[in-house]
Amino acid sequence: MAEDSGMVDLRSDTVTKPTAGMRAAMADAEVGDDVYSEDPLVNSLEERVADLFGHEAAVFVPSGTMGNQIGMRLVCQPGQEVLGDAEAHVVTYEMGAAAAIFGLSTRTVVSTGGVLDADQLIEQVRPFGNWHLTPTAAIAVENTHNRAGGLVQPLAQLEKLYAWSRDAGVAVHLDGARIWNAAVASGVPLSTYGRLADTASVCLSKGLGAPIGSVLVASADRIAEARLWRKRLGGGMRQVGVLAAAGHYALDHHVDRLAEDHARARSLAQRLGVDPATVHTNMVVLDGVAAPMLAEAAKGQGVLISQVSATKVRLLTHLDVDDAGIDRAVEVLAPLL
Ligand SMILES: *Cc1c(COP(=O)(O)O)cnc(C)c1O
Repeated sequence: MAEDSGMVDLRSDTVTKPTAGMRAAMADAEVGDDVYSEDPLVNSLEERVADLFGHEAAVFVPSGTMGNQIGMRLVCQPGQEVLGDAEAHVVTYEMGAAAAIFGLSTRTVVSTGGVLDADQLIEQVRPFGNWHLTPTAAIAVENTHNRAGGLVQPLAQLEKLYAWSRDAGVAVHLDGARIWNAAVASGVPLSTYGRLADTASVCLSKGLGAPIGSVLVASADRIAEARLWRKRLGGGMRQVGVLAAAGHYALDHHVDRLAEDHARARSLAQRLGVDPATVHTNMVVLDGVAAPMLAEAAKGQGVLISQVSATKVRLLTHLDVDDAGIDRAVEVLAPLL
């Protein structure tokens, strides 16, 4: 439970607060000016995350949105397009940044439940060198898929898409905000997910429980360019080792435990009459409900949930929800359903 407020906050896994251990690591952080590449913990965090995903280099950025947008800009020029899922975070929740900031065109396909279908995307790719068509420079993949309820993408489809993209000269960007959840749920190593993308943005501030921070991984050349874009966007940060310390701590202590969040989400689903097979990671989706009424009534009893649409709500488990919090949520939500 979110002890300080007494609320059980299931709105998102971004609501976690740094634990005592994480705060201690932050307080003890040795720092330097990261714009001069002199912050030791930022440097080591970048190396560590690049290694985890099998890439040459990485850059620490303040948010997943910045990681995604710079990542896409590295593999797509203004006037070219990024193709992706219609429900993808990069086209839904990033305020049109690809167009507003970078001049990138985006085009989407409506998939079945957010599940990556390589053929469906490949079919939509438009070639370079045609006077009529906007060329598709990159395909964006989201794993886990947020609006699809924390769905883990099928490895075979990721492999098929990536293998195809090599010959086609199309890049793959991975929005891996919750790639940790995907890896823990599927047992697929992070390095495997990493090698199936040219650029990947991964978040430390979701299930991993850091207060801020994402990391963009790619080749060394691309990351050198990413540093320019980060600075242009105002994302050049100074003694930011206090945040990198939180990131290191999260990687040390909060990856394997995601399995607990997944188990709690399954249990929550089961106890609310939702098919646990629809729970892939740490999200439970309740469909066909009067979302505003349900959210309001639950809030009145100390349980916060998030409305996805008028008839859909979403519950997320995370570091700050324990078994007692799940019990409380069931106590409140079950009668309302
Ligand atoms: C949270 C999230 C992001 C990044 O969000 P920020 O709030 O900018 O850190 C990117 N992609 C997905 C799928 C997310 O859930």
